[in-house]
Amino acid sequence: MIVMKFGGSSLASSEAIRRVASIVAERLPRRPVVVVSAMGKTTDRLLEAADLAAAGRRAEALRLVGELEEFHLREGHPCSGRTEELFAELTELIRGLAVIGELTPRTIDAVSSYGERLSSMIVAEKFRAAGIDAAQADSRELLVTDSRHTAAAPIFEETYGRIGARIPPLLAGHDAVVMGGFIARSRQGVTTTLGRGGSDFTASIVGAALDAEEIQIWTDVDGMLTSDPRLVEGVHRVKVISFDEAAELAYFGARVLHPATLIPAIEKNIPVRILNSYRPQAEGTRIVAERVPCRNIVKAISSKHGITIVNIRSTRMLGAHGFLRRIFEIFDRHRTSVDMVSTSEVSVSATIDDARALAAIKADLEEFSTVEIESDQAIVCVVGDNIRHTPGIAGRLFRALNGINIRMISQGASLLNMGFVVAGSDVKRALQALHTEFFSDLDPAVFDRLR
Ligand code: ADP
Ligand code: ASP
Ligand code: MG
Repeated sequence: MIVMKFGGSSLASSEAIRRVASIVAERLPRRPVVVVSAMGKTTDRLLEAADLAAAGRRAEALRLVGELEEFHLREGHPCSGRTEELFAELTELIRGLAVIGELTPRTIDAVSSYGERLSSMIVAEKFRAAGIDAAQADSRELLVTDSRHTAAAPIFEETYGRIGARIPPLLAGHDAVVMGGFIARSRQGVTTTLGRGGSDFTASIVGAALDAEEIQIWTDVDGMLTSDPRLVEGVHRVKVISFDEAAELAYFGARVLHPATLIPAIEKNIPVRILNSYRPQAEGTRIVAERVPCRNIVKAISSKHGITIVNIRSTRMLGAHGFLRRIFEIFDRHRTSVDMVSTSEVSVSATIDDARALAAIKADLEEFSTVEIESDQAIVCVVGDNIRHTPGIAGRLFRALNGINIRMISQGASLLNMGFVVAGSDVKRALQALHTEFFSDLDPAVFDRLR
């Protein structure tokens, strides 16, 4: 069997869903389990509605929900009855939020889960209308996670057990199974989500649970590209890339893959392919276990935005041991993960992605150090297996970035990436300069020029 995951951009209209149905119809002999995201920008809208409601802007929140319902009824025709039921529930929830005036991670998950609950129902129904005998599975009954709402971690053994028990019989009796990505349940039975972009992760969890022959991530671009096409001009398609390289890119911001996507696939050695639902005949990107020989040093450049640098300085700690432990204990206590660190004898700089606990972290750090915060920074990361074999890459990188102020730099232990921090306002210029530096001459075995 294969897993086929379709992102929101591939499901943004009735016509897009029909296109998806025909892509799936052509692959029925491979026994597809289809994982779907919420339609279009639904998740963004749901979160906006929740924010508005909790801020007491009830009418605006309800108007937004009304617009979403209209969109789903129009594009999701003909499954109107169930759509209306789900929207009635959601409307109740939004009204409740407006009364309470408070939003918790748990209620955020409750609200955002509606996107995938709607889309999985609608897509299954549309598949049936297109002649595909599709069964629908409720992902919340299959994926078990911890209770870290909005970024829950799967409990793999239980999840694999449930998927292994439930999906094969469904697949045996039908052409395909459709399920929502992103959503799950905690052991306590409460709805959770795997974090933004989490449907990719669902796809790979399902693939690993069922020992799929392939996991296909269908999106709106031709595959993994040499950089973010929204920020860089003249990007190229990467035809094939290793798991390690792709995982690094996903972790450092290549939005096309959720950062955790490749973990289950690597563990079970299942090939992953990124494909374009708008150009299904295009070859896409293959992500493979073995290293991919390449004449270019760099395979792709990623960027991660909205990063905060925390600069921690303490002369009292000069020469004292335990300084780093104390610092990291604080980040840990506030459940905030650190991406990049650089240290000197008396100071430590750390970058964080999630600044929700920043005030509390700062207060704790200030008990023994001076803290300075810099927000709106970005991490740029060049990735490629050859980086580890190429001396002088840092020099080349700095020369290409001529004039752009680099705040922190680090080379990961894997040695296949080099990352650095620049101000958010410099990131586009930095990406373009590096792209020109590293991709002017392309190895045709690995890259394909996009038209
Ligand atoms: P989906 O709705 O299919 O999950 P996403 O928006 O999550 O789609 O991811 C696809 C988008 O990721 C692309 O449209 C592209 O703009 C962006 N992107 C960023 N970096 C890259 C990259 N290196 N390669 C391909 N796409 C990238
Ligand atoms: N719908 C969710 C989101 O927008 C999950 C996903 O699309 O992968 O984040
Ligand atoms: Mg995505």
